[in-house]
Amino acid sequence: MICREWQRKIPDFLNGKMFLKEQEQFIAHVRTCKDCYEELEIMYMLAEGLKELENGSDTSFNFKHMLDKKLKTAQLQCERYNSFMRIKGLIFGAMYAVTAIGIIVQIWQWI
Ligand SMILES: [Zn+2]
Repeated sequence: MICREWQRKIPDFLNGKMFLKEQEQFIAHVRTCKDCYEELEIMYMLAEGLKELENGSDTSFNFKHMLDKKLKTAQLQCERYNSFMRIKGLIFGAMYAVTAIGIIVQIWQWI
């Protein structure tokens, strides 16, 4: 995917509307692409700044740090999802194996 397409997806990421698979690719991209990271930073600052203005609280936040934390949390979410899918795959694999063995044993008994 080209940078322009990733940049168009920044609001989805910030609003947590991105699919995990896509989120994973998105994070990997912004971590390596300076342009997209800067774009993300600007949009994040705007979004968070507006929120702070609405709440009327202190706007002297460290956006860079906050964004970094958001990215790390999102990445962790992807990793957890991946390991969950891996475990799920293993369990289903084992279940299929047990079922297959059961069928083979039954066929064996018929013969
Ligand atoms: Zn990019």
